[in-house]
Amino acid sequence: MSNERRPVPPIDIAGGAEHARVSSSSVTSPSPEFIEKLASVCAIETDLATVTESSRDWWPHDMHWALEGVVTQRAAVVCRPTNTEQVSSILSLCNEHRVPVTAAAGRSGVSGGSIPVRGGVVIDMCAMQGVVSVDEISGTVEVLPGTFGPDLESHLATFNLTVGHFPQSFDISTVGGWIACRGAGQFSTRFGKIDDMVVALEVVLADGTVVRTSDAPAGADGPDRASVFIGSEGTLGVVTRAWLRAHPRHEHQWRSAWSFDSFEDGVDACRRIIRAGATPAVLRLYDEKESQRSHGGDGARSFLLVLDKAHEAMVSATRLIVEHACALSAQRESDELVAKWLSHRNDTSGLQALTKKGFVIDTMEIAAPWSRLKQVRDNVVAALESVAGCRLASCHLSHSYIDGACLYFTFAATPGDATFDDTYEALWNEGQRAALRAGANLSHHHGVGLNRARFMEEALGNEMVILRALKNALDPNNILNPGKLGL
Ligand SMILES: Cc1cc2nc3c(=O)[nH]c(=O)nc-3n(C[C@H](O)[C@H](O)[C@H](O)COP(=O)(O)OP(=O)(O)OC[C@H]3O[C@@H](n4cnc5c(N)ncnc54)[C@H](O)[C@@H]3O)c2cc1C
Repeated sequence: MSNERRPVPPIDIAGGAEHARVSSSSVTSPSPEFIEKLASVCAIETDLATVTESSRDWWPHDMHWALEGVVTQRAAVVCRPTNTEQVSSILSLCNEHRVPVTAAAGRSGVSGGSIPVRGGVVIDMCAMQGVVSVDEISGTVEVLPGTFGPDLESHLATFNLTVGHFPQSFDISTVGGWIACRGAGQFSTRFGKIDDMVVALEVVLADGTVVRTSDAPAGADGPDRASVFIGSEGTLGVVTRAWLRAHPRHEHQWRSAWSFDSFEDGVDACRRIIRAGATPAVLRLYDEKESQRSHGGDGARSFLLVLDKAHEAMVSATRLIVEHACALSAQRESDELVAKWLSHRNDTSGLQALTKKGFVIDTMEIAAPWSRLKQVRDNVVAALESVAGCRLASCHLSHSYIDGACLYFTFAATPGDATFDDTYEALWNEGQRAALRAGANLSHHHGVGLNRARFMEEALGNEMVILRALKNALDPNNILNPGKLGL
């Protein structure tokens, strides 16, 4: 089941797999004796086609290189453990022999997080899949890390429960990947980010030690240990089991669509809805360009889509608050726009087609407090448009919080006389730095991976002291996903 669920767009790079783009003097080629020891622990594969395919993800830059027949970097061996003990043995072997080890699962990451930049071992978590148990009274689910979204939710549906995590990559990403990247689903305004869903974790540390965190709902027994691993992108430990919160499922829903004179008017309505305490599962506001491109707008108005699915009384209250907030400045549009969004929301074929035509195309998601959102949006769009060849820079507001929101930018360029690599780098340098300067964070849900590693020092400042200390303490030999998170 898991293999069917991993459609990293197929690109035939087996012929070019001899060539790795990121050549690093510290790429590790494990000895035959070491590989033999791994083979005694679990199923492994070493053939070129498999290690090449297992060493790539959805990072658009990686995808471009793959189209040129070049792999970004390649592991020497792929391990497929089926239980925690095997993961522990693999890590302890890697630690003893100083061999880098990169966890990979759905490989739907868009920041190059699961690319093994220093070679070594890729540990494919997809064979560790399935729901282990459901605590119906507490509303929690114990699940293995390689479980894909549809498998988790269809199992929970039999208990009339839902975790409520529906990223656009729901079909092709796993529980472990969601946790490792601090992901967000499309219904996050009601259910929260994955950070809000994790009750407890089982994690294997670099030396093979297995740690299980407390599953009591709240604590004052020191800093939260599970949160150390949420967002750590496989650099501090490998998640081998998770306990997640599960909510009662509700079929009652309400949908509405609105348009505003400007994106700023729409942002203000979203802010008032959230500040009033309403949490409609979906609250998505598109700027004028995206409203025209995707929702039939005229290029001057900004469209808001609202969907709530909850207990009838909650939905009624949400409806009242939304209608009140929108009454001030919005025009009602057809609710059909929400149905259309629902049916197309996970379709990325358009973006893939542009990538294949040689366009430089990517997305950048960041979050900022409500008071700084306008500045962030204006500065990022201007910065992206200043890059030679930029053909498009647009954004939508995709996730809202009591104190701020996530802005999701889409940009595209044609390189012209410049190379793809230079244009790609310039867009990210300009766009990301403009966001940071205007007071946004580095990433809202796509994570850091390889692509954003160079911005970590600028974004986190001396908070990096904490991350480095954790890394040194938990992985002193730097074997876990080296080269990521700016560590
Ligand atoms: C079309 C598309 C749409 C997307 N939409 C969203 C979205 O709406 N919301 C969102 O949050 N993300 C989205 N993403 C990004 C991506 O799907 C998420 O980051 C997802 O959480 C990655 O999960 P994965 O199983 O594919 O992990 P992978 O890509 O295999 O790995 C991602 C990172 O997690 C680490 N990792 C994986 N498993 C483990 C483990 N068990 N223990 C420790 N580390 C581990 C890897 O080392 C790597 O650093 C989208 C991606 C695509 C291609």
